[in-house]
Amino acid sequence: MLGAIEAGGTKFVLAVGPSPDRIIARHTIPTRDPATTLAEAAEWLAGQGGCAALGIGSFGPVDLDPRSPRFGFITNTPKPGWADCDIAGYLGQALGVPTGFDTDVNAAALAELAAAGGGEGGLAYLTIGTGIGGGLVIGGKPVHGIAHPEMGHIYPRRHRDDIDFAGICPAHGDCLEGLASGPAIIARWGVSLSQLPADHPGHAIIADYIAQACHTLFASVAVKEVVIGGGVANTPGLIERVAHRARELDAGYLPGGARHAIIRPRLGSDAGITGAMMLAEAAAKA
Ligand code: ZN
Repeated sequence: MLGAIEAGGTKFVLAVGPSPDRIIARHTIPTRDPATTLAEAAEWLAGQGGCAALGIGSFGPVDLDPRSPRFGFITNTPKPGWADCDIAGYLGQALGVPTGFDTDVNAAALAELAAAGGGEGGLAYLTIGTGIGGGLVIGGKPVHGIAHPEMGHIYPRRHRDDIDFAGICPAHGDCLEGLASGPAIIARWGVSLSQLPADHPGHAIIADYIAQACHTLFASVAVKEVVIGGGVANTPGLIERVAHRARELDAGYLPGGARHAIIRPRLGSDAGITGAMMLAEAAAKA
C-alpha cells in the first residue's frame, strides 16, 4: 500500500492505495499551523493499515537537493509558521517509511504525463489560481536545477491595454503571477475572471499572459503539452483563448509547433494527489 499527500496552502489531500491509479481511501484536512496539520495527516495515514512508502507533493518553495541538510523542507514561504518546516522528514519519521518528495506541480506534471500515456515530448503543468506555479517533466523525470522551477515568476511582455497596472507580486510586481493570478485579476477588475462579462477585455489580457508563458515553455524546453489547472483555469473559454493566442505568438515558427497542445488536466483535480502516489511508488522502489 502507498500513502500520498498533496500539501497545499489551504488544504492537505491525503490518500492511500495499492498503485497511483487506484486510490482506495482519501481524506482532506484544512492547512493550519505545521504541528497541528502534520500530526493530523500522519494520524490519518497511520490509521489506514500501514503503507510501504509515502509520497508528498508540496506547496513551496521547497528544498529538493538530496545533499542539502534542508532536503525535504518547505523553505522561505511567507505562509505564517511554515518557513523552514521539515515536512518530509517529519512525516517520513512519523510513519517510518521511505518518502518521496517534490513540488505539488512537479507531482501533477508526472501524473499528467502518465495519464497522457507517457512517452516522448515532455510536459509542463501550470496551476493558475491564488498563485501561479509550474512543474516540468522531461525524459520521464521532474526537472530540478539547483532548485525547482518557478515559472509563475517569469516576466511577460505587457499587454498594450494593461500598461498601468503595477502587478501584485511582493517580489517582482508585474511577473506572471503578479499579473495573471486570481488576486491580480481581482485587484484590477474587482471580480474573478469567470465573473467578468464575456466581452470584457480582461479575458484577452489574461489569456495573452498565460499564452506567453506557454510559448516560453514551448520555445525554451520544447515540451509537447502544457497542461493548465487551478481555479482561474476553470474560466469558461480561457484555455481555448490561451491556445489560440499561443499559436498567434508562435507565428508558425517553432519546429514542434503543429504538435503543441495546451489542455486542461486529464486527471482534473486529481493530478496532484495521483502524482504524490507516483512519488511514493518511486520511493518504495528506491
Ligand atoms: Zn513574482
